[in-house]
This record gives sequence, C-alpha cells and structure tokens, in this order.
Amino acid sequence: MKITENCSLKEHNTFGIEAKAHKFVEYSSVEELQAFIRQRSAAGDSSPLLHIGGGSNLLFLGDYEGTILHSSMQEIYVTANEGDYVYVRVTAGITWDAWVQYAIDSNWFGLENLSLIPGEVGASAVQNIGAYGSEAKDFIIFVDAVDLETGEIRHFTAEECRYGYRDSAFKHELRGRYAVTHVHFRLSHAFRPILDYGGLRRAIEERGFDETNLTPQQLRQTIIEIRRAKLPEPSELGNAGSFFTNPFVAREVFEKLAAENPSVPHYDVDAERVKVPAGWLIEQCGWKGKALGKAGVYDRQALVLVNLGGATGKDIKALCEQIQADVRAKFGINITPEVNFI
Ligand SMILES: Cc1cc2nc3c(=O)[nH]c(=O)nc-3n(C[C@H](O)[C@H](O)[C@H](O)COP(=O)(O)OP(=O)(O)OC[C@H]3O[C@@H](n4cnc5c(N)ncnc54)[C@H](O)[C@@H]3O)c2cc1C
Repeated sequence: MKITENCSLKEHNTFGIEAKAHKFVEYSSVEELQAFIRQRSAAGDSSPLLHIGGGSNLLFLGDYEGTILHSSMQEIYVTANEGDYVYVRVTAGITWDAWVQYAIDSNWFGLENLSLIPGEVGASAVQNIGAYGSEAKDFIIFVDAVDLETGEIRHFTAEECRYGYRDSAFKHELRGRYAVTHVHFRLSHAFRPILDYGGLRRAIEERGFDETNLTPQQLRQTIIEIRRAKLPEPSELGNAGSFFTNPFVAREVFEKLAAENPSVPHYDVDAERVKVPAGWLIEQCGWKGKALGKAGVYDRQALVLVNLGGATGKDIKALCEQIQADVRAKFGINITPEVNFI
C-alpha cells in the first residue's frame, strides 16, 4: 500500500485542476484495502473517504480534506466459458480502454463501441458508461465491492446496481459507501457489430471498410478516430468529456420546443419522454467556443467544458451554473451535470 500525504491531485483529474488531498492511498489487494478500513475504524477515524479511478469525471472544487483511495490491482481472468459467452472478472484499477483492447485481442466481443472512453474499469460500473449505442450495463453481470465502513466484501448483481442512463445505485443510495474492486463481464464469442448509432455506418463506409466483413479492430479504429476528431485530448485541454447529461423532457414540452425550433435533434425514449441533446441546447444559447474567465466551452462540441489554463474547480462550476441558467431561461429545460463535483 502506498500512502502519500498532502498529495497533488493535478495528475488525478482530467480537468487538470490543481487541488490537494490530505492523504492519497493506493492499495494493491482487497486484503490491503480491508486492513486499511479496519485500522481506520479501530482508530475512530471518521474523516471523509473518496474512491477514485482515473479522475475523468471529477471536478475538485477545492482541496480534499480526507483520504482518497485508488486501486492499483491489475488482473483479468476468465471465470467461465458457456456456449456463446465468456465470463471475465476484471479488477477496478485497469484502464478501461486497455480492457477493451484486451477483450478484442482475446476474441471476446461486445465492448468495441465503448473504445477510448477514458477512466478505469471500476468507474464503468459506477457511471454505466456509454457511447455509440452501447452501455457498460449491457455486459456487466455483477460487481464485487468492499464496504468502506466495515471492510466486508459484497457482491451486487446487475439488477441490484439499478443501472440507468449514466446512472447506478452507486450514485444514489450506495453513494460513497463501497469501493468497487472487480467487475464481472459477460462477453460474446461472436462478433455482432452495432452500427446504427449516429454517423457510425457512414464513417465505416468512408474508411472503405466492408460492413458485411467488418472486423472488430476496424470498428474499434473507426470509433477511436471519430472520438479523436470530436473530443479534446485531456492532456492538451483539460476536460471531463460531456459535462451535462442529455435531458429527458416530457413530450408536450418537446412538441412546443420543436414547433419553435423545427431542426431540434431528438431521440424518442418512450411514449411520454424525448431525449434532447444538451449540447444543442447550449449551442443555441450561444455558448459554443465562448469562455467565462479561464473556463470555456469547447469550440467543436458545446457539451464539453474545458480548462483554458489555470482554471479552478470553482471557475468551471461558475460556467456550468451560467449555462444552466441560460438554458433554463431560453427553453425552460433543466440540464444536470454528469460530472461529479467533489
Ligand atoms: C475526453 C473524455 C471523453 C469521455 N467520453 C465519455 C463517453 O463517451 N461516455 C461516458 O459514459 N463517459 C465519458 N467520459 C466520462 C468518463 O470517462 C467516465 O465517467 C468514466 O467512467 C470515469 O472513469 P474514472 O476511472 O476516471 O472515474 P473517476 O472520474 O475517478 O470517478 C467517477 C465516479 O466513480 C467513482 N469511482 C471511481 N472508481 C471507483 C471504484 N473503484 N469504486 C467506487 N467508486 C468509484 C468516483 O467516486 C466518482 O464518483 C469521458 C471523459 C473524458 C475526459
């Protein structure tokens, strides 16, 4: 176990915000994590605890006056092979995209559309990451976790995780209570590409790939290229990807919006609700490419807020609040941050 006191968090958040943690603890086994929790509890230490992954969905609003936990466990192993499916247990500390590449190299399929999403495997089960028509929940069978109060191991079925759009029980009633240590995935031995989302099919054609003979690596490469063209690289321009979730609006609200803005993009969720891209709402308010101090809105995608250099977490929050207020004033729609404010 590696413990760093007064640790800089700049390298631990993709916004590149300068903040410090009172203590940063990197554990390399479940037993080490359990021992740390039990010692803390025996010493009556009730200071705050926060488990992070790669920090690609965090906004530090100031220094963290507690202990930050991080897993350095790096193991992938097959627990079963049954018919069309392989069951694989993956430790939380593995980089998500390294896991996607590993799965494709092993001829285990399903994760291709989730290529290049930043962060680690543990957070994928907290956030229910998603892109291009796939979500982590489509492949997660269950999650192993350690109770941060007692050190006990718990197993959560996917049903108990209550997955929804970028959402899970770990963001609500289980928030802050568990360290996810392993995620169990069910992947397929057969490659069944999902190409119906956005411009994916067209992007595949443009690259000269044959849809009927498409390989998993070609699909991955296409997704990576699209993402690189659309999203800023955090090492060059600090950001946390989509800052807001896309709002689900009542159909009556949507119909009024569409009457005034016939070009509004949308996705039907069900009979009552329609999903409207938050990026479009922000762009209509004139924020694309604009800045408030050192916090900006990315000029190629209005859903992405960026650190223009030296911004604090509070600068980014101020921009977020101004955008929310403008969207509410113009459209009567509330947009909610996807990013976790710490
Ligand atoms: C350029 C860019 C593009 C992005 N694109 C996408 C995208 O297409 N789709 C998408 O869904 N997201 C996207 N994101 C957001 C981000 O990649 C995901 O939210 C990712 O899951 C965060 O992983 P992380 O390891 O960095 O988690 P962190 O940001 O460190 O943590 C996120 C949350 O998970 C909790 N957490 C992390 N690890 C654990 C653990 N082991 N146990 C318990 N709790 C834990 C944290 O406490 C926090 O609440 C993007 C981000 C960036 C910077």
